[in-house]
Amino acid sequence: MSTTKKKKAQDDPAAHSAAADGQRLGRTRKRLLKWYDANARDLPWRHTQDPYAIWVSETMLQQTRVDTVIPYYERFLEHYPDVASLADADLESVYALWTGLGYYSRARNLREAAQSVMTDFDGELPGQAEDLRALKGIGRYTAGALASIAFDREEPLVDGNVIRVLARFLGIRDDVGKAAVVERFWSLAGGLVVGPRPGDLNQALMELGAVVCTPRSPACDACPLGRDCSARAQGDPAQLPRKKKRTPVRRVEAAVAWIERGGRTLAVRRPEGGLLGGLWELPGGELQDGEAPEEGLRRALAETVGLKLLGAEAVASVEHLFTHRRLRLHVFRAAGVEGRVRREGFAEHRWLGASALAALPQGGPTRKALAALGVGEARAPRARLRAAAESAQ
Ligand code: SF4
Repeated sequence: MSTTKKKKAQDDPAAHSAAADGQRLGRTRKRLLKWYDANARDLPWRHTQDPYAIWVSETMLQQTRVDTVIPYYERFLEHYPDVASLADADLESVYALWTGLGYYSRARNLREAAQSVMTDFDGELPGQAEDLRALKGIGRYTAGALASIAFDREEPLVDGNVIRVLARFLGIRDDVGKAAVVERFWSLAGGLVVGPRPGDLNQALMELGAVVCTPRSPACDACPLGRDCSARAQGDPAQLPRKKKRTPVRRVEAAVAWIERGGRTLAVRRPEGGLLGGLWELPGGELQDGEAPEEGLRRALAETVGLKLLGAEAVASVEHLFTHRRLRLHVFRAAGVEGRVRREGFAEHRWLGASALAALPQGGPTRKALAALGVGEARAPRARLRAAAESAQ
């Protein structure tokens, strides 16, 4: 440490603490890399230096478990092996390859960003974190991951695993739900990633959080940081990181109908953006306070597709949990409808055979509704992939 920095650290307790944390982290670099070399999981995206492939993997890994991502990653790269092929793809085909991974905005943004890479960067993904962040769907974390892993730049990244490891290792007991506290982790991670092999260092930290320093039962005896770890010394690693209780999950009810005419069923597509944006579903809508499901369905069909419901048979109620909402979806089979479709709030509608409808890109609630109606089982291979992905959504 320089004389000026030492003086500042002595005068200012916060600066002293930051400097001490920095020194402590410096000692851990070698241990982390050594541990990573011996223990890194063998994952397909670790066999490539292709920035595009790494970008696809990092995008899929947001919100989704590694085991679930692997078959999707391989299939996606078979269909779209480079930026140019993805930029040229039609959105529906991209969604079809994403079916079951959830969070479809990731797929939409990936394709849009690929188009920007073609027009603004001659088809080559830029190596600077700042340029990467200008691309649709690439936030601070993904920019750090790409810049460090694919381009060997000293860029930090912070995700839940990194926060957990650093909070325990350094004994940080502040509420990690606060932006200022998260900023501190970025600063600490930035101090750690200085030096050789920044991409491996970042991956080592995340890997340690994923397989050793796990949320509920950290394996401290097998941890390369165990010797210097504050939380281990205090005997309470599972208590960290601290986070104030999340906002309660909101309960929402909705009703949808299987409406058949001449052997074809009505499907509607949501507008792009927002929850389930761009995906297909059965027509219907959210219930209002105190509204019975069939009554709400009747109103929603009149308002959103201009059809008058003549009667309906209740088939099932399915549940789906989003990040902040628990949806109870009442599924009906319409006995008949009157009128012509006049859309309000949906981007598109189609009358389709059951198998064509089941093959459209759709969200979790619609998949569950179709399963309750006995539609979609024919697509066994994808259904298996979806089942694996379901638990991660
Ligand atoms: S010693 Fe335990 S608590 Fe500390 S970083 Fe390692 S696994 Fe986590």
